[in-house]
Amino acid sequence: MDRIAVLTSGGDNPGLNPCIRAVVRIGLHLGLQVMGIHRGYAGLMGGDIKPLDTRSVAGIIAKGGTILGTARAPRFREAQGRREAVRKLNRHGIDGLVVIGGNGSLTGALELHRMGFPVVGIPSTIDNDINGTDIAVGVDTALNTILDAIDKIKDTASSHNRAFLIETMGRNSGYLALSSGIAGGAELILCPEIETPFEEIIKTIDDSYVQGKAHCIIVVAEGWRPGADEVVERLRDRQEELGFSIRVTRLGHVQRGGAPLAFDRILATRLGAAAVRALMDGKRGNMVGWVESRAQLTPLEEAVAYQKEIDPELYELTQIMN
Ligand code: ATP
Repeated sequence: MDRIAVLTSGGDNPGLNPCIRAVVRIGLHLGLQVMGIHRGYAGLMGGDIKPLDTRSVAGIIAKGGTILGTARAPRFREAQGRREAVRKLNRHGIDGLVVIGGNGSLTGALELHRMGFPVVGIPSTIDNDINGTDIAVGVDTALNTILDAIDKIKDTASSHNRAFLIETMGRNSGYLALSSGIAGGAELILCPEIETPFEEIIKTIDDSYVQGKAHCIIVVAEGWRPGADEVVERLRDRQEELGFSIRVTRLGHVQRGGAPLAFDRILATRLGAAAVRALMDGKRGNMVGWVESRAQLTPLEEAVAYQKEIDPELYELTQIMN
């Protein structure tokens, strides 16, 4: 193997740059040439591929975003798009590819593997819903961004005796809501995976008031239905009776940005290094995950087979801790 390439794909997160840096630096260390593919699979199909040297990744370990850019590329889901992609890889003399991304991106990597192209994946998504890794790159920093917001909202909620619904990202996954809610001492956590009757929301707000709390914090995953706005709508006329006025804060894209924290920098460095070593050792078609404090390989097929569930024990604790 002489020349490898790296791309970031799908939703962005704060751990991508340290991961790119690790792939480039270990690759060069092992005597490989390293190419950067811009804008994920879209850039791959379009041939947007440029060499990276050790200076190209200087200073990025502390920067959010991705120097390579990322994209959603619907055409890559079609066989013709993927044929185009492999053609571009061959034209640039690339013999191995590292894909950094979430479930969709790793499914794309699996398709390349099925076409016979040497590929290794690195799990990187704030949803932390990928099988074969305890934690994905970017999760810890996003979680701490949310936690910082919860702590701040709690201050203002307590000052005004308000109930806040704080919406986190997670269209299909309640991981961020659950983890940030536990760490932030939320009174209630609403996840897409768990049905919560409306009466329980009212009871939580009521209990908070009766217990003498100055606030009530409810963390809501974006994908929870019927959604935060609907809760406010239905409680509009009951705020006085419940003792709290009710507000919604939607954290939005702030969760994807910011400087990667120490945990993500170290995780990204270890997984980036392990991914290139796996490619060189011929262990293609795998994802390098973090399991029991070690980098471990899981076949891409297994990694994307189903969405990792939230931890029911952690969810149960929310009902005791509030
Ligand atoms: P995140 O979970 O953070 O949103 P992701 O990697 O799951 O990240 P997606 O938008 O699902 O993000 O996927 C990124 C890209 O991967 C898609 O735009 C597409 O190019 C490719 N991809 C997704 N699913 C498939 C698939 N089934 N087959 C081939 N390629 C796919």
